[in-house]
Amino acid sequence: MSDLKLCQSPKCHLYKTQDRIKGTKGNKTYQTRRRSSFYYGNGNFCSLNCQNDWFNKYGDLAIDHFGRTTEAKRLTEENAWGKQIDWSSDYDSTRYIYVNGITKEQRPLTREQYQDNNYTLNTSLD
Ligand SMILES: [Zn+2]
Repeated sequence: MSDLKLCQSPKCHLYKTQDRIKGTKGNKTYQTRRRSSFYYGNGNFCSLNCQNDWFNKYGDLAIDHFGRTTEAKRLTEENAWGKQIDWSSDYDSTRYIYVNGITKEQRPLTREQYQDNNYTLNTSLD
């Protein structure tokens, strides 16, 4: 019981589903869902509705707390490289490529480079 998590929605208990009814006869209540894991919102919410309810109540506060985006971010050529599998290649000789999302330039990658999360052609951190 102690490993179970509670849905973080402020309204979870307001959804009247059978699985939320707890308690003995004459003393029943709808309660916040409790599970070993949840699929929504990084494992914090039992449903998309509950995730949306949380955001509607706390989203602006959270954005203001962590910093509101006040100017457009820009993806530049230096940072637009993305790894891809070249599906036009034969199954036996699968080609891995780096494709620049802005210039469309392609460069070959080894399988090891493709799988290495630290390997990148991007040169800035954003
Ligand atoms: Zn919920």
